[in-house]
Amino acid sequence: MPLYEYRCESCGHRFETLQQVGAGAADVSCPRCAAGRVARELSTFAARAATGRDRSPAPEPTCGRGGCGAGFCAN
Ligand SMILES: [Zn+2]
Repeated sequence: MPLYEYRCESCGHRFETLQQVGAGAADVSCPRCAAGRVARELSTFAARAATGRDRSPAPEPTCGRGGCGAGFCAN
């Protein structure tokens, strides 16, 4: 379940909440003032997730042959 960042349009409080994919701001209310007028902050989490993915390539086998898990690699 993805983490979304919201900003309360009533008091300005920013918070994050876990939501089902496809859920909208209508399902969220501010944890500080309980106002239902919140706006999803689209940039922060999406940018952070994309950056982390780009910097984390799939790990390569340390022996270069892909046999480590099968006991072929001395290391
Ligand atoms: Zn608020």
